[in-house]
Amino acid sequence: MRRTLYLKFILAYVIFGIFGFVTITTLVPNLTRDRLIREKANDLYSEATLIANTYASGLYSSETTLETVKTQMDALAIYMNSIIRIINPSGRLVMDTSRPLNVDDVEMIENFDSTITGSSYYIVDNFFGSFDTDVLSVIAPINNEYVIKGYVIIHYGLDKIEQSTNGLLSISYITLITLLMLSVIILIFFTEMVYVPLRRITKATEQYAAGNMKYELQVDSDDEIGYLAACLNFMSSEIARTEDDQKKFVANVSHDFRSPLTSIKGYLEAMLDGTIPPEMHEKYLKIVLNETERLTKLTNSLLTLNNLNIKGMLLQMTDFDINQVIRSTAASFEGTCLNKSISIELLLTGDVLYVHADMDKIQQVLYNLIDNAIKFSHNNSSILLETSEKKNKIFVSVKDTGIGIPKDDQKLIWERFYKSDSSRGKDKKGTGLGLSIVKEIITAHGEHINVISTQGVGSEFIFSLQKSGKNDVVVD
Ligand code: ADP
Repeated sequence: MRRTLYLKFILAYVIFGIFGFVTITTLVPNLTRDRLIREKANDLYSEATLIANTYASGLYSSETTLETVKTQMDALAIYMNSIIRIINPSGRLVMDTSRPLNVDDVEMIENFDSTITGSSYYIVDNFFGSFDTDVLSVIAPINNEYVIKGYVIIHYGLDKIEQSTNGLLSISYITLITLLMLSVIILIFFTEMVYVPLRRITKATEQYAAGNMKYELQVDSDDEIGYLAACLNFMSSEIARTEDDQKKFVANVSHDFRSPLTSIKGYLEAMLDGTIPPEMHEKYLKIVLNETERLTKLTNSLLTLNNLNIKGMLLQMTDFDINQVIRSTAASFEGTCLNKSISIELLLTGDVLYVHADMDKIQQVLYNLIDNAIKFSHNNSSILLETSEKKNKIFVSVKDTGIGIPKDDQKLIWERFYKSDSSRGKDKKGTGLGLSIVKEIITAHGEHINVISTQGVGSEFIFSLQKSGKNDVVVD
Protein backbone atom coordinates (compact mmCIF):
# COMPACT_ATOMS: atom_id res chain seq x y z
CA MET A 1 0.00 0.00 0.00
CA ARG A 2 2.67 2.46 1.05
CA ARG A 3 4.73 1.94 -2.10
CA THR A 4 1.76 2.62 -4.38
CA LEU A 5 0.90 5.81 -2.49
CA TYR A 6 4.36 7.14 -3.19
CA LEU A 7 4.24 5.92 -6.79
CA LYS A 8 0.86 7.56 -7.25
CA PHE A 9 2.27 10.84 -6.10
CA ILE A 10 5.29 10.53 -8.44
CA LEU A 11 2.93 9.54 -11.27
CA ALA A 12 0.78 12.61 -10.62
CA TYR A 13 3.95 14.68 -10.68
CA VAL A 14 5.08 13.17 -14.01
CA ILE A 15 1.59 13.60 -15.53
CA PHE A 16 1.63 17.21 -14.38
CA GLY A 17 5.03 17.68 -16.09
CA ILE A 18 3.92 16.03 -19.34
CA PHE A 19 0.66 17.99 -19.49
CA GLY A 20 2.53 21.19 -18.79
CA PHE A 21 5.00 20.43 -21.57
CA VAL A 22 2.32 19.42 -24.10
CA THR A 23 0.26 22.54 -23.30
CA ILE A 24 3.23 24.80 -23.75
CA THR A 25 4.34 23.19 -27.01
CA THR A 26 0.87 23.15 -28.61
CA LEU A 27 -1.40 25.76 -27.18
CA VAL A 28 1.06 28.51 -26.24
CA PRO A 29 2.82 28.88 -29.66
CA ASN A 30 -0.49 29.23 -31.53
CA LEU A 31 -1.95 31.65 -29.05
CA THR A 32 1.26 33.70 -28.94
CA ARG A 33 1.59 33.74 -32.74
CA ASP A 34 -2.05 34.83 -33.23
CA ARG A 35 -1.65 37.51 -30.64
CA LEU A 36 1.58 38.85 -32.14
CA ILE A 37 0.07 38.85 -35.66
CA ARG A 38 -2.97 40.75 -34.43
CA GLU A 39 -0.87 43.32 -32.65
CA LYS A 40 1.50 43.76 -35.62
CA ALA A 41 -1.48 44.02 -38.01
CA ASN A 42 -2.96 46.67 -35.82
CA ASP A 43 0.25 48.73 -35.93
CA LEU A 44 0.66 48.23 -39.68
CA TYR A 45 -2.94 49.17 -40.39
CA SER A 46 -2.51 52.44 -38.49
CA GLU A 47 0.62 53.15 -40.52
CA ALA A 48 -1.10 52.21 -43.79
CA THR A 49 -4.06 54.49 -43.02
CA LEU A 50 -1.70 57.30 -42.15
CA ILE A 51 0.23 56.83 -45.39
CA ALA A 52 -3.01 56.59 -47.38
CA ASN A 53 -4.31 59.83 -45.90
CA THR A 54 -1.07 61.78 -46.30
CA TYR A 55 1.64 60.84 -48.78
CA ALA A 56 -0.45 58.61 -51.02
CA SER A 57 -3.47 60.91 -51.29
CA GLY A 58 -1.03 63.73 -52.18
CA LEU A 59 0.15 61.53 -55.00
CA TYR A 60 -3.37 61.22 -56.43
CA SER A 61 -4.10 64.93 -56.00
CA SER A 62 -0.85 65.60 -57.83
CA GLU A 63 0.49 67.55 -54.92
CA THR A 64 3.60 65.46 -54.91
CA THR A 65 5.50 63.27 -57.34
CA LEU A 66 5.82 59.51 -57.36
CA GLU A 67 9.59 59.77 -56.82
CA THR A 68 9.18 61.89 -53.70
CA VAL A 69 6.61 59.50 -52.29
CA LYS A 70 8.80 56.53 -53.22
CA THR A 71 11.78 58.00 -51.37
CA GLN A 72 9.72 58.58 -48.28
CA MET A 73 8.09 55.13 -48.49
CA ASP A 74 11.46 53.43 -48.94
CA ALA A 75 12.74 55.03 -45.75
CA LEU A 76 9.56 54.10 -43.91
CA ALA A 77 9.66 50.53 -45.23
CA ILE A 78 13.23 50.09 -43.97
CA TYR A 79 12.26 51.58 -40.66
CA MET A 80 9.21 49.28 -40.36
CA ASN A 81 11.07 46.28 -41.69
CA SER A 82 8.31 45.71 -44.22
CA ILE A 83 7.28 46.21 -47.87
CA ILE A 84 4.94 49.06 -48.76
CA ARG A 85 2.96 48.93 -51.98
CA ILE A 86 0.53 51.31 -53.61
CA ILE A 87 -2.00 49.67 -55.94
CA ASN A 88 -4.72 51.03 -58.18
CA PRO A 89 -8.24 49.64 -57.64
CA SER A 90 -7.72 47.59 -60.82
CA GLY A 91 -4.72 45.83 -59.25
CA ARG A 92 -2.00 47.73 -61.07
CA LEU A 93 1.14 48.25 -59.03
CA VAL A 94 1.95 51.95 -58.71
CA MET A 95 4.79 51.65 -56.25
CA ASP A 96 6.71 48.88 -54.50
CA THR A 97 9.41 49.62 -51.89
CA SER A 98 11.01 46.19 -52.37
CA ARG A 99 12.08 46.96 -55.95
CA PRO A 100 11.99 49.75 -58.54
CA LEU A 101 9.11 49.47 -61.04
CA ASN A 102 9.61 49.85 -64.74
CA VAL A 103 7.33 52.77 -65.71
CA ASP A 104 6.86 51.37 -69.17
CA ASP A 105 5.63 47.99 -67.91
CA VAL A 106 2.20 47.63 -66.47
CA GLU A 107 2.54 45.32 -63.49
CA MET A 108 -0.68 43.86 -62.23
CA ILE A 109 -1.59 41.94 -59.11
CA GLU A 110 -3.75 39.31 -60.70
CA ASN A 111 -7.27 38.94 -59.29
CA PHE A 112 -6.69 41.70 -56.76
CA ASP A 113 -9.70 42.11 -54.58
CA SER A 114 -9.64 44.80 -51.86
CA THR A 115 -12.33 42.98 -49.86
CA ILE A 116 -10.12 39.92 -49.35
CA THR A 117 -9.55 40.79 -45.68
CA GLY A 118 -13.29 40.41 -45.06
CA SER A 119 -14.43 41.78 -41.73
CA SER A 120 -10.82 41.88 -40.52
CA TYR A 121 -8.22 44.46 -41.49
CA TYR A 122 -5.44 42.03 -42.24
CA ILE A 123 -4.79 38.76 -44.03
CA VAL A 124 -2.06 36.13 -43.81
CA ASP A 125 -1.40 34.47 -47.17
CA ASN A 126 0.84 34.84 -50.26
CA PHE A 127 -1.25 37.88 -51.36
CA PHE A 128 -2.70 36.76 -54.70
CA GLY A 129 0.42 34.75 -55.46
CA SER A 130 2.73 37.77 -55.33
CA PHE A 131 4.93 36.14 -52.63
CA ASP A 132 6.49 32.67 -52.41
CA THR A 133 5.61 32.34 -48.74
CA ASP A 134 2.81 33.62 -46.52
CA VAL A 135 3.07 37.23 -45.37
CA LEU A 136 0.97 39.47 -43.15
CA SER A 137 -0.76 42.11 -45.28
CA VAL A 138 -2.91 45.10 -44.36
CA ILE A 139 -4.88 47.14 -46.89
CA ALA A 140 -5.86 50.81 -46.39
CA PRO A 141 -7.87 52.64 -49.11
CA ILE A 142 -6.65 55.99 -50.51
CA ASN A 143 -9.63 58.33 -50.71
CA ASN A 144 -9.69 61.44 -52.79
CA GLU A 145 -12.92 63.41 -52.89
CA TYR A 146 -14.90 60.41 -51.65
CA VAL A 147 -13.57 58.16 -54.39
CA ILE A 148 -11.19 55.27 -53.78
CA LYS A 149 -8.20 56.05 -55.89
CA GLY A 150 -6.04 53.19 -54.79
CA TYR A 151 -4.75 51.19 -51.83
CA VAL A 152 -1.75 51.34 -49.55
CA ILE A 153 -0.72 47.80 -48.75
CA ILE A 154 1.93 46.91 -46.16
CA HIS A 155 3.40 43.40 -46.13
CA TYR A 156 5.28 42.07 -43.15
CA GLY A 157 7.33 38.85 -43.17
CA LEU A 158 5.99 36.10 -40.88
CA ASP A 159 9.53 34.90 -40.15
CA LYS A 160 10.00 37.92 -37.87
CA ILE A 161 6.79 37.06 -35.99
CA GLU A 162 7.96 33.46 -35.80
CA GLN A 163 11.22 34.68 -34.19
CA SER A 164 9.31 36.68 -31.58
CA THR A 165 7.04 33.66 -30.93
CA ASN A 166 10.04 31.41 -30.38
CA GLY A 167 11.59 33.98 -28.06
CA LEU A 168 8.43 34.08 -25.95
CA LEU A 169 8.14 30.29 -26.12
CA SER A 170 11.58 29.83 -24.61
CA ILE A 171 10.46 32.06 -21.72
CA SER A 172 7.48 29.70 -21.23
CA TYR A 173 9.81 26.67 -21.24
CA ILE A 174 12.04 28.26 -18.64
CA THR A 175 8.94 29.05 -16.53
CA LEU A 176 7.73 25.45 -16.84
CA ILE A 177 11.09 24.01 -15.86
CA THR A 178 11.30 26.42 -12.91
CA LEU A 179 7.77 25.38 -11.86
CA LEU A 180 8.63 21.70 -12.13
CA MET A 181 11.75 22.22 -10.07
CA LEU A 182 9.81 24.18 -7.48
CA SER A 183 7.19 21.46 -7.29
CA VAL A 184 9.97 19.04 -6.32
CA ILE A 185 9.87 20.95 -3.04
CA ILE A 186 6.26 19.76 -2.64
CA LEU A 187 7.47 16.23 -3.34
CA ILE A 188 10.14 16.56 -0.67
CA PHE A 189 7.59 17.97 1.78
CA PHE A 190 5.18 15.14 0.99
CA THR A 191 7.95 12.59 1.53
CA GLU A 192 9.10 14.07 4.82
CA MET A 193 5.75 15.05 6.29
CA VAL A 194 3.40 12.36 5.03
CA TYR A 195 5.17 9.42 3.45
CA VAL A 196 7.93 8.80 6.02
CA PRO A 197 5.62 9.15 9.07
CA LEU A 198 3.03 6.93 7.33
CA ARG A 199 5.69 4.27 6.77
CA ARG A 200 6.64 4.45 10.43
CA ILE A 201 2.98 4.16 11.47
CA THR A 202 2.45 1.18 9.16
CA LYS A 203 5.56 -0.51 10.55
CA ALA A 204 4.35 0.12 14.08
CA THR A 205 0.89 -1.32 13.37
CA GLU A 206 2.56 -4.40 11.88
CA GLN A 207 4.55 -4.76 15.09
CA TYR A 208 1.40 -4.34 17.19
CA ALA A 209 -0.45 -6.89 15.05
CA ALA A 210 2.46 -9.28 15.65
CA GLY A 211 1.96 -8.77 19.38
CA ASN A 212 4.89 -6.47 20.08
CA MET A 213 2.99 -3.88 22.11
CA LYS A 214 6.21 -2.44 23.55
CA TYR A 215 7.25 -1.11 20.10
CA GLU A 216 7.65 2.64 20.32
CA LEU A 217 6.41 4.74 17.41
CA GLN A 218 8.53 7.84 16.83
CA VAL A 219 6.64 10.59 14.99
CA ASP A 220 7.27 14.06 16.40
CA SER A 221 5.03 16.29 14.31
CA ASP A 222 2.19 18.23 15.89
CA ASP A 223 -0.23 17.80 12.98
CA GLU A 224 -2.92 15.16 12.37
CA ILE A 225 -0.30 12.48 11.60
CA GLY A 226 1.51 13.25 14.84
CA TYR A 227 -1.81 13.00 16.67
CA LEU A 228 -2.55 9.66 15.00
CA ALA A 229 0.89 8.38 16.05
CA ALA A 230 0.34 9.58 19.62
CA CYS A 231 -3.06 7.81 19.69
CA LEU A 232 -1.44 4.61 18.41
CA ASN A 233 1.28 4.86 21.07
CA PHE A 234 -1.35 5.35 23.73
CA MET A 235 -3.41 2.45 22.37
CA SER A 236 -0.43 0.08 22.38
CA SER A 237 0.60 1.08 25.90
CA GLU A 238 -2.98 0.53 27.09
CA ILE A 239 -3.12 -2.90 25.44
CA ALA A 240 0.29 -3.74 26.93
CA ARG A 241 -0.96 -2.66 30.36
CA THR A 242 -4.15 -4.72 29.99
CA GLU A 243 -2.08 -7.71 28.91
CA ASP A 244 0.17 -7.28 31.95
CA ASP A 245 -2.87 -6.97 34.20
CA GLN A 246 -4.36 -10.07 32.67
CA LYS A 247 -1.16 -12.05 33.17
CA LYS A 248 -0.96 -10.86 36.77
CA PHE A 249 -4.62 -11.72 37.25
CA VAL A 250 -4.20 -15.27 35.90
CA ALA A 251 -1.02 -15.74 37.96
CA ASN A 252 -2.85 -14.59 41.10
CA VAL A 253 -5.90 -16.77 40.41
CA SER A 254 -3.72 -19.83 39.77
CA HIS A 255 -1.72 -19.16 42.92
CA ASP A 256 -4.83 -18.69 45.04
CA PHE A 257 -6.35 -21.88 43.71
CA ARG A 258 -3.17 -23.91 43.98
CA SER A 259 -2.36 -23.33 47.66
CA PRO A 260 -5.69 -24.60 49.10
CA LEU A 261 -5.71 -27.48 46.59
CA THR A 262 -2.17 -28.46 47.62
CA SER A 263 -3.06 -28.49 51.29
CA ILE A 264 -6.35 -30.41 50.66
CA LYS A 265 -4.43 -32.98 48.61
CA GLY A 266 -1.68 -33.21 51.27
CA TYR A 267 -4.11 -33.80 54.15
CA LEU A 268 -6.26 -36.30 52.25
CA GLU A 269 -3.21 -38.33 51.17
CA ALA A 270 -1.85 -38.29 54.71
CA MET A 271 -5.21 -39.55 55.99
CA LEU A 272 -5.36 -42.29 53.38
CA ASP A 273 -1.84 -43.61 53.88
CA GLY A 274 -2.22 -43.50 57.66
CA THR A 275 0.28 -40.69 58.33
CA ILE A 276 -2.63 -38.98 60.08
CA PRO A 277 -4.22 -41.49 62.46
CA PRO A 278 -8.04 -41.94 62.27
CA GLU A 279 -8.60 -40.25 65.64
CA MET A 280 -7.08 -37.04 64.19
CA HIS A 281 -9.20 -37.21 61.00
CA GLU A 282 -11.92 -34.90 62.31
CA LYS A 283 -9.44 -32.10 62.99
CA TYR A 284 -7.88 -32.34 59.55
CA LEU A 285 -11.20 -32.79 57.77
CA LYS A 286 -12.24 -29.45 59.31
CA ILE A 287 -9.12 -27.88 57.84
CA VAL A 288 -9.95 -29.42 54.45
CA LEU A 289 -13.50 -28.07 54.76
CA ASN A 290 -12.10 -24.63 55.53
CA GLU A 291 -9.95 -24.78 52.43
CA THR A 292 -12.89 -25.80 50.25
CA GLU A 293 -14.86 -22.88 51.69
CA ARG A 294 -12.04 -20.61 50.70
CA LEU A 295 -12.09 -22.04 47.18
CA THR A 296 -15.85 -21.54 46.97
CA LYS A 297 -15.49 -17.95 48.14
CA LEU A 298 -12.74 -17.32 45.61
CA THR A 299 -14.80 -18.77 42.77
CA ASN A 300 -17.86 -16.73 43.79
CA SER A 301 -15.83 -13.53 43.98
CA LEU A 302 -14.33 -14.16 40.56
CA LEU A 303 -17.76 -14.79 39.10
CA THR A 304 -19.09 -11.60 40.70
CA LEU A 305 -16.20 -9.54 39.31
CA ASN A 306 -16.65 -11.09 35.88
CA ASN A 307 -20.37 -10.33 35.87
CA LEU A 308 -19.74 -6.76 36.92
CA ASN A 309 -17.38 -6.35 33.98
CA ILE A 310 -19.47 -8.17 31.38
CA LYS A 311 -22.65 -6.31 32.07
CA GLY A 312 -20.75 -3.02 32.06
CA MET A 313 -22.69 -2.77 35.31
CA LEU A 314 -26.31 -2.97 34.36
CA LEU A 315 -27.66 -1.57 37.58
CA GLN A 316 -31.21 -2.22 38.68
CA MET A 317 -31.82 1.13 40.26
CA THR A 318 -34.64 1.28 42.82
CA ASP A 319 -35.54 3.35 45.86
CA PHE A 320 -34.96 1.35 49.02
CA ASP A 321 -34.39 1.88 52.73
CA ILE A 322 -30.63 1.66 53.33
CA ASN A 323 -31.17 1.48 57.11
CA GLN A 324 -33.17 -1.70 56.66
CA VAL A 325 -30.54 -3.22 54.37
CA ILE A 326 -27.81 -2.38 56.93
CA ARG A 327 -29.87 -3.98 59.73
CA SER A 328 -30.49 -7.20 57.82
CA THR A 329 -26.88 -7.50 56.58
CA ALA A 330 -25.54 -6.93 60.10
CA ALA A 331 -27.92 -9.58 61.39
CA SER A 332 -26.49 -12.16 59.00
CA PHE A 333 -23.13 -11.82 60.81
CA GLU A 334 -24.61 -12.59 64.23
CA GLY A 335 -23.04 -16.04 64.43
CA THR A 336 -19.56 -14.86 63.46
CA CYS A 337 -19.75 -11.94 65.85
CA LEU A 338 -20.76 -14.22 68.67
CA ASN A 339 -17.68 -16.40 68.08
CA LYS A 340 -15.37 -13.39 68.39
CA SER A 341 -17.45 -11.58 70.98
CA ILE A 342 -17.80 -8.64 68.65
CA SER A 343 -20.77 -6.33 68.92
CA ILE A 344 -22.21 -4.40 66.00
CA GLU A 345 -23.59 -0.98 66.86
CA LEU A 346 -25.94 0.89 64.56
CA LEU A 347 -26.13 4.67 64.42
CA LEU A 348 -28.72 5.19 61.72
CA THR A 349 -30.22 8.50 60.61
CA GLY A 350 -34.01 8.40 60.80
CA ASP A 351 -36.28 5.38 60.93
CA VAL A 352 -36.13 4.92 57.21
CA LEU A 353 -33.60 6.44 54.85
CA TYR A 354 -34.28 5.92 51.19
CA VAL A 355 -31.49 5.80 48.63
CA HIS A 356 -31.61 5.38 44.87
CA ALA A 357 -29.31 2.48 43.97
CA ASP A 358 -29.08 -1.20 43.05
CA MET A 359 -30.14 -2.91 46.29
CA ASP A 360 -28.48 -6.30 45.73
CA LYS A 361 -25.17 -4.74 44.81
CA ILE A 362 -25.17 -2.35 47.77
CA GLN A 363 -25.98 -5.31 50.00
CA GLN A 364 -22.89 -7.03 48.57
CA VAL A 365 -20.81 -3.88 49.35
CA LEU A 366 -22.03 -3.85 52.93
CA TYR A 367 -21.44 -7.57 53.26
CA ASN A 368 -17.82 -7.29 52.09
CA LEU A 369 -17.07 -4.27 54.30
CA ILE A 370 -18.64 -5.79 57.45
CA ASP A 371 -16.93 -9.12 56.71
CA ASN A 372 -13.54 -7.33 56.55
CA ALA A 373 -14.31 -5.29 59.67
CA ILE A 374 -15.05 -8.46 61.64
CA LYS A 375 -12.06 -10.31 60.15
CA PHE A 376 -9.60 -7.57 61.07
CA SER A 377 -11.11 -6.72 64.47
CA HIS A 378 -9.80 -8.01 67.77
CA ASN A 379 -12.01 -10.16 69.99
CA ASN A 380 -14.27 -8.26 72.37
CA SER A 381 -14.41 -5.15 70.24
CA SER A 382 -17.23 -3.35 68.52
CA ILE A 383 -18.04 -2.30 64.97
CA LEU A 384 -20.02 0.84 64.20
CA LEU A 385 -22.37 1.08 61.22
CA GLU A 386 -23.53 4.62 60.60
CA THR A 387 -25.69 6.49 58.09
CA SER A 388 -25.68 10.24 57.66
CA GLU A 389 -27.17 12.73 55.25
CA LYS A 390 -25.50 15.67 53.58
CA LYS A 391 -27.08 17.68 50.79
CA ASN A 392 -28.41 15.13 48.30
CA LYS A 393 -26.12 12.35 49.45
CA ILE A 394 -26.39 9.58 51.97
CA PHE A 395 -23.12 8.48 53.56
CA VAL A 396 -22.68 4.97 54.92
CA SER A 397 -19.77 4.22 57.23
CA VAL A 398 -18.38 0.89 58.46
CA LYS A 399 -15.93 1.51 61.29
CA ASP A 400 -13.87 -0.94 63.25
CA THR A 401 -11.21 -0.74 65.97
CA GLY A 402 -9.14 -3.52 64.46
CA ILE A 403 -5.60 -3.84 63.19
CA GLY A 404 -5.87 -0.89 60.75
CA ILE A 405 -4.19 -0.57 57.37
CA PRO A 406 -0.60 0.71 56.92
CA LYS A 407 -0.51 4.06 55.09
CA ASP A 408 1.41 2.66 52.10
CA ASP A 409 -1.16 -0.10 51.64
CA GLN A 410 -4.20 2.16 51.67
CA LYS A 411 -3.99 2.93 47.94
CA LEU A 412 -3.38 -0.70 47.02
CA ILE A 413 -6.21 -2.38 48.90
CA TRP A 414 -8.65 -1.66 46.01
CA GLU A 415 -6.56 -3.68 43.57
CA ARG A 416 -7.55 -7.20 42.72
CA PHE A 417 -5.87 -9.88 44.85
CA TYR A 418 -4.24 -7.35 47.09
CA LYS A 419 -3.78 -8.55 50.67
CA SER A 420 -1.59 -6.58 53.02
CA ASP A 421 1.19 -8.55 54.69
CA SER A 422 -0.24 -7.88 58.13
CA SER A 423 -3.58 -9.41 57.15
CA ARG A 424 -2.21 -12.65 55.75
CA GLY A 425 -1.68 -14.24 59.15
CA LYS A 426 -5.07 -13.20 60.48
CA ASP A 427 -7.15 -13.93 57.38
CA LYS A 428 -6.40 -17.23 55.77
CA LYS A 429 -9.64 -17.26 53.78
CA GLY A 430 -9.13 -13.80 52.26
CA THR A 431 -9.09 -13.60 48.47
CA GLY A 432 -8.05 -9.99 48.05
CA LEU A 433 -11.06 -9.48 45.77
CA GLY A 434 -13.62 -8.12 48.23
CA LEU A 435 -12.62 -4.47 48.07
CA SER A 436 -12.13 -4.43 44.29
CA ILE A 437 -15.74 -5.66 43.96
CA VAL A 438 -16.83 -2.92 46.38
CA LYS A 439 -14.96 -0.26 44.43
CA GLU A 440 -16.38 -1.39 41.08
CA ILE A 441 -19.95 -1.34 42.37
CA ILE A 442 -19.66 2.10 43.98
CA THR A 443 -17.90 3.55 40.90
CA ALA A 444 -20.63 2.12 38.65
CA HIS A 445 -23.16 4.05 40.74
CA GLY A 446 -21.14 7.20 40.02
CA GLU A 447 -20.35 7.45 43.73
CA HIS A 448 -17.19 7.40 45.87
CA ILE A 449 -15.67 5.26 48.58
CA ASN A 450 -12.86 6.27 50.91
CA VAL A 451 -10.90 4.71 53.71
CA ILE A 452 -9.57 6.38 56.84
CA SER A 453 -7.31 4.07 58.75
CA THR A 454 -4.55 4.11 61.35
CA GLN A 455 -2.47 1.04 61.91
CA GLY A 456 -3.21 -0.48 65.30
CA VAL A 457 -6.21 1.82 65.86
CA GLY A 458 -8.81 0.80 63.29
CA SER A 459 -10.34 1.53 59.90
CA GLU A 460 -13.37 3.36 58.63
CA PHE A 461 -14.79 2.82 55.14
CA ILE A 462 -17.23 5.51 54.00
CA PHE A 463 -19.19 5.44 50.76
CA SER A 464 -21.77 7.79 49.31
CA LEU A 465 -25.15 7.00 47.74
CA GLN A 466 -27.72 9.06 45.94
CA LYS A 467 -30.56 10.17 48.20
CA SER A 468 -33.99 9.14 46.97
CA GLY A 469 -36.79 11.68 46.50
CA LYS A 470 -39.02 9.24 48.38
CA ASN A 471 -37.58 10.54 51.71
CA ASP A 472 -39.37 13.87 51.30
CA VAL A 473 -42.70 12.13 50.66
CA VAL A 474 -42.24 10.01 53.77
CA VAL A 475 -41.31 13.02 55.95
CA ASP A 476 -44.40 14.95 54.80
P1 ADP B 1 -9.85 -10.02 51.44
O1 ADP B 1 -10.89 -10.90 50.86
O2 ADP B 1 -8.50 -10.63 51.45
O3 ADP B 1 -10.25 -9.36 52.69
P2 ADP B 1 -10.22 -7.40 50.36
O4 ADP B 1 -10.14 -6.89 48.97
O5 ADP B 1 -11.58 -7.29 51.00
O6 ADP B 1 -9.69 -8.87 50.35
O7 ADP B 1 -9.20 -6.61 51.24
C1 ADP B 1 -7.88 -6.41 50.78
C2 ADP B 1 -6.96 -6.14 51.94
O8 ADP B 1 -7.28 -4.89 52.55
C3 ADP B 1 -7.06 -7.12 53.06
O9 ADP B 1 -6.23 -8.23 52.80
C4 ADP B 1 -6.56 -6.33 54.22
O10 ADP B 1 -5.15 -6.32 54.26
C5 ADP B 1 -7.00 -4.92 53.94
N1 ADP B 1 -8.27 -4.61 54.67
C6 ADP B 1 -9.50 -4.55 54.14
N2 ADP B 1 -10.41 -4.20 55.10
C7 ADP B 1 -9.70 -4.01 56.24
C8 ADP B 1 -10.05 -3.63 57.59
N3 ADP B 1 -11.32 -3.35 57.92
N4 ADP B 1 -9.06 -3.55 58.49
C9 ADP B 1 -7.79 -3.80 58.13
N5 ADP B 1 -7.38 -4.16 56.92
C10 ADP B 1 -8.33 -4.28 55.98
